[in-house]
Amino acid sequence: MKAALIIDDDPILRAYIAQVLTQEGWRIFEAEDGEAGINLARQHRPEVVLCDLLMPRCNGYQVCRSIRAENSLRHTRIIVTSGRGYATDRLNALEAGADEYLVKPVQPADLQQLLRRISGNGSPVETVPAATAPQPVTVRFWGVRGSIPTPGPSTLFYGGNTSCVEVRADDEIIILDAGSGIRPLGLQLKKEFPTEPLNLTLLLTHTHWDHIQGFPFFLPAYSPKNRLRILGYEGARQGLGKTLSAQMESPYFPTGLEEVPASIEIEEQKEMAFTVGRIKVRAWFANHPGNCVGYRLETSAGSVVFLPDNEPFQGMRAKAAGNAAPGSVEFGRQEDEKLLEFIAGADVLIIDSQYDAAEYESHIGWGHACVDDVAALAAQARVKQLFLFHHDPSHDDEKISRMLAHARQLVAGLKSATTVEAAREGLTVVLTPAR
Ligand SMILES: [Zn+2]
Ligand SMILES: [Zn+2]
Repeated sequence: MKAALIIDDDPILRAYIAQVLTQEGWRIFEAEDGEAGINLARQHRPEVVLCDLLMPRCNGYQVCRSIRAENSLRHTRIIVTSGRGYATDRLNALEAGADEYLVKPVQPADLQQLLRRISGNGSPVETVPAATAPQPVTVRFWGVRGSIPTPGPSTLFYGGNTSCVEVRADDEIIILDAGSGIRPLGLQLKKEFPTEPLNLTLLLTHTHWDHIQGFPFFLPAYSPKNRLRILGYEGARQGLGKTLSAQMESPYFPTGLEEVPASIEIEEQKEMAFTVGRIKVRAWFANHPGNCVGYRLETSAGSVVFLPDNEPFQGMRAKAAGNAAPGSVEFGRQEDEKLLEFIAGADVLIIDSQYDAAEYESHIGWGHACVDDVAALAAQARVKQLFLFHHDPSHDDEKISRMLAHARQLVAGLKSATTVEAAREGLTVVLTPAR
């Protein structure tokens, strides 16, 4: 059954239009304001949205622009309804993305005729999805380094940019962290989509500088046609929005975050599970100073876990054995159980593997992992592809390759099927959906 969404702050008008459409066999969703309407549209993807032009808070123009910015709603037709018949209102609505403009009071015959015209025939029919092949999911590394960018001849192979990974899945472009790697990603997006509006989601694990420092140089943020949703958890000492804008304040940067022309929404998450389009996302608090999370994305072609900064308790427990506080060993065991559950069976696991065993001895409790512990955990969790990540700034290409060889040996010794790679800039992992 075809679906229509009616957005109007007048309940009598909503009921009236709903009645006309129900008689014609349409399934109806209703919202009393623009924001709720946009959310319902994302959720149910109706064939038609009927939207009042003048509503408090979020008006019809804003609804049109938001819907047009959603790739997943590109087939949705928008009819703007208004009590005003001015040519300029009509023109503005069409420019904002409306397909039709209907002057109130809406006559049932006019509405029926219009719906027939824009939905292609006289009666609503089931939408038959086009027989398109399922799209592969891609995971691309743009920045793989921890702490600080490390350009130079000794890091050419793995790359020197800090944390940034791009996931394209299920009609979404999701960016994981905004380290300096987000700059080349921005340039690529601009090249690939020179005129189309971009609708991007940025998931931040935390606000340590190596995870946000590239944002002021992210080109798509400087185009008014683009929309960027930034999701993360509260900064350790102040809100996410304040922390992000602080790095762009004078005298650190010439342009403030509030002056950036793209439509930017910063959402501080409270729940540990949410969705980005059709992708289910789970977050998990990492063992790292401040508020830091990892994300698990369930895409149509498999699961991707991104945990760039984390110290498993496994190593901490072993090293602290003997002088650990009462109960702390048991607590650590339980925390590692939760980590195992979070990464269990992941198709792709991108995880902090900053230190080798010798270095870790002097870095216990710093919030970063020993590669030996990570290899053991990934094998135990039956991860399919493990990517060592957050490379130490003092590690050159040769050192990272040695750590990779060591991790592969460990995993092979455990008779595990997990494959191991060290993340490097430009590497793209492709997950193919099961038919
Ligand atoms: Zn970091
Ligand atoms: Zn950090």
